[in-house]
Amino acid sequence: MKACRTCKAIVYGKTCEICGSSNLAKRFSGLIIILDTNNSLIAKKLNLGLGEWAAQIDE
Ligand SMILES: [Zn+2]
Repeated sequence: MKACRTCKAIVYGKTCEICGSSNLAKRFSGLIIILDTNNSLIAKKLNLGLGEWAAQIDE
């Protein structure tokens, strides 16, 4: 599991499915999972869509 440096999406393959970037970080702190954008205050606050996102990228 890696995190996209461009959009912070969690990536399981070689490229980010959200933005297509291959600029991925192996180390990141925290995981934000958005299940419902309409009822999620975090999603609105951080402007995130559905899915898994890194809270902070370390490298
Ligand atoms: Zn991305």
